[in-house]
Amino acid sequence: MQATITVLPGDGIGPEVTAIAVALLKDVAALGGHTFIFQEALFGGCAIDAAGDPFPAETRIMCENCDAVLLGAVGGVQWSDPTAKVRPEQGLLRLRQHFGLFANLRPVRAYPMLASHAPLRADLLEGVDMLFIRELTGGAYFGARQEQGDGDTAYDTMIYSVPEVQRVARVAFRAAQGRRKHLTSVDKANVLASSRLWQRTVKQVAAEYPDVQVDHALVDSFAMQLIRTPSRFDVVVTENMFGDILTDEAAVLAGSLGMLPSASLGEGTFGVYEPIHGSAPDIAGKGIANPIGTILSAALLLRHSLTLGDEAAALEGAVQAVLESGARTGDIAEPNTAALGSAAFGEQVRAALRKAH
Ligand code: NAD
Repeated sequence: MQATITVLPGDGIGPEVTAIAVALLKDVAALGGHTFIFQEALFGGCAIDAAGDPFPAETRIMCENCDAVLLGAVGGVQWSDPTAKVRPEQGLLRLRQHFGLFANLRPVRAYPMLASHAPLRADLLEGVDMLFIRELTGGAYFGARQEQGDGDTAYDTMIYSVPEVQRVARVAFRAAQGRRKHLTSVDKANVLASSRLWQRTVKQVAAEYPDVQVDHALVDSFAMQLIRTPSRFDVVVTENMFGDILTDEAAVLAGSLGMLPSASLGEGTFGVYEPIHGSAPDIAGKGIANPIGTILSAALLLRHSLTLGDEAAALEGAVQAVLESGARTGDIAEPNTAALGSAAFGEQVRAALRKAH
């Protein structure tokens, strides 16, 4: 197949980790006889410096004319003034809004060989393999808000419509069909009207997917169950703010922020794929960042935007094989053991991919 991929390396460790994922995507293309065309554009803080805008028109046009976007990370101390008019994260929000990316997928796996890096007992992490689907363009982050007022009062509005819930619920049900056929929908229906609409709508959509078992959990109790018995969850769907909080909670199960990928999807096959970590200014430029989150994001890109499921699985398998071989970047290495730099770790994944072919 032929596909065009826009790469937005961004700031900090973003360029370091995307370079490794791009090398692997080139290998995937060569091994499978595909043609991937890569185009790189400015995004985030570096785009503010170069063009005064974190999401310049030129970048937007490139994203409009491609099949998928691979993003590194944005941000850094030099752009961190919260009162600044133009900030790197505005680029992320505008990118998601522009392409109607309403579903954020975050797979969370606990690798047994990394269990010592997670704060939970190893037996609790056994079999943890879940997929979070967070609604990304609605709820309190997009509802009406009073930001200043008289200084004594402020409000945010958590607002959802039935179509907004239906479309993200369908993404979740379809994902569950391809996995263990179990969906947990998380809300706060005992208190919030928007959650009652959420739950009612998920129940209606469930009728279209009779093969999927659905549970409804209250967000407070779910937050506890996620730590007590994480392996019982398969696909989890929830609204924007609950998802923001719960996915960070779930991230600790994987042992390092550097491990986790994400995909932001809309109605079609187009998507934006990025690791969940930020630009990690404390380690930027040192060549020691863990590239796994970005490599696994490239695998999601292959699966969701290019419908190359076998190639995605091969890439995920190569990461698994390298971890099984004992190779580690600094963030997941045992104390007093040698760690590989990002590039050397990437080379091992490339070798494992070629070996498995
Ligand atoms: P961060 O994720 O950048 O870093 C948190 C900690 O995790 C740091 O100690 C960092 O060194 C470590 N870390 C992160 N990714 C790693 C990797 N791949 N390998 C090894 N260690 C890794 O979060 P932060 O420090 O809160 O934010 C730094 C900047 O990133 C800020 O400007 C923030 O706004 C931005 N940010 C961007 C995104 C994004 O682009 N989507 C997300 C979160 C934060």
